Amino acid sequence: MVLGAGSGGLAAAKRAAGHGANVAIIEGDRVGGTCVIRGCVPKKLLVYGSIYRDLLASASSFGITLSASSDTKVLLENVRKEVDRLNRLHIDLLEKAGVTLIKGWGSFTGPNNVIVRNDVKENSIEIKANRFLISVGGRPCRPNIPGASLGWVSDDMFLKDDFPKKVVVVGGGYIGCEFACILSGLGVEVTQLVRGKYLLRGFDRELSSVLKEGMEMKDIRFDFGCSPTSLVIDSGELVLNTNNQQRYRSGGVLFATGRRPFLQGLNIEMAGVEVQQGRIVVDSKLATNVPHIYAVGDVTDRINLTPVAIDEGRAFADSVFGKQRRNVNYELVPHAVFASPEVASVGYTEEDAYEKFGKEAIRIFRARFRTMSQTLSKRGPRCLLKLIVKAQTDKVIGCHMVGENSAEIIQMASIAIGMGATKSDFDKTMALHPTVAEEFVTMT
Ligand code: NDP
Repeated sequence: MVLGAGSGGLAAAKRAAGHGANVAIIEGDRVGGTCVIRGCVPKKLLVYGSIYRDLLASASSFGITLSASSDTKVLLENVRKEVDRLNRLHIDLLEKAGVTLIKGWGSFTGPNNVIVRNDVKENSIEIKANRFLISVGGRPCRPNIPGASLGWVSDDMFLKDDFPKKVVVVGGGYIGCEFACILSGLGVEVTQLVRGKYLLRGFDRELSSVLKEGMEMKDIRFDFGCSPTSLVIDSGELVLNTNNQQRYRSGGVLFATGRRPFLQGLNIEMAGVEVQQGRIVVDSKLATNVPHIYAVGDVTDRINLTPVAIDEGRAFADSVFGKQRRNVNYELVPHAVFASPEVASVGYTEEDAYEKFGKEAIRIFRARFRTMSQTLSKRGPRCLLKLIVKAQTDKVIGCHMVGENSAEIIQMASIAIGMGATKSDFDKTMALHPTVAEEFVTMT
């Protein structure tokens, strides 16, 4: 019995059914979960839609003159249609895999029983199962301030018909940076408030400053060291008050202030499953303290990324039903932020490498330049490519990039780094010219 038909739950259910298990999956919302319905997929489509203005602004340097108009309503509507198509596709795939889909919200009534509630109360059913997988994901959270419910969270962004002229984005993480860039690309005036000193805590600091520089070139305004204290409506506009006595007027406020596991209504205590700081605790086999109950993905709040949830779901199914015991490899997880410019990373940051091995043990290689695609228009930020190398072994332990296609490039670099590539392996790789990524094999 799988609770939650998002990335992790769907992957686990189909794989377990493929191993011959009798599988049902409970979902109270739309099949597809955060990634498909209100996350990665519609977000990336909005990213594609939001870069056109910028491309058009460079078009004249390539001899193309256009008079363009844009309609964000069309973009949002088309994105929703694609989400609907994927939602149906995932339902079909479950059926093809022989997984029973049960619509409703599951709550534990004991360690072996779940009651499923849907809109019609009389339709509640109680189900027993030998094994449970909790893959209910997470939900965005708002800051604990008066008026917070007047603001949006990322889920709301995909339901809009249009965006107002002026938006304040609160938060300097993944969602804050991605939506600040999407909105600005769509012509919205954006101010981003960050409570710390830098964007993207946990990323290489140099990447974060190159991203900031690039976002500023797109007229996104930043206020660092700034936290919201209340949100009110005044004369039909939203006014966000902050700790530094600023008042930001806008037509919308997006709270991109983190996500939390979605345990509400699950009655997890009835199952006796251990929860620590709002997250389900699992061991290396993805088992909770109750041996027949497992959990994967954002509900465990470790590395909250779709590919991690999918791999956890499959590892659970292979180990428990396929007799192919395996653990997920969390060592080299590539990360990307689909901001403009795009940011991607794998392995140690410069700061982490210095802290772990000492400054003398690390060699840093970097290249910063204007890419060929920008040379005629002379527009946009210079890209950054960076390698972190262990001096003694010559091993590349970190690879980072800000600039066009950085996520695609870092995905491929992850293979080499995962195989233990050294800086000399990079150097002896023939460059592919003229590309941006060739700088990774020609850095001195
Ligand atoms: P993040 O944790 O990335 O960022 C949250 C931001 O909000 C941080 O800047 C944080 O500051 C700030 N913040 C938190 N609470 C407050 C508060 N009360 N007042 C002001 N600022 C606050 O979370 P996101 O919501 O951006 O994303 C959630 C997760 O979803 C990500 O961590 C990632 O795992 C996943 N995700 C991945 C994407 C991708 O792969 N491209 C895209 C989108 C989401 P501070 O740093 O000081 O804590």
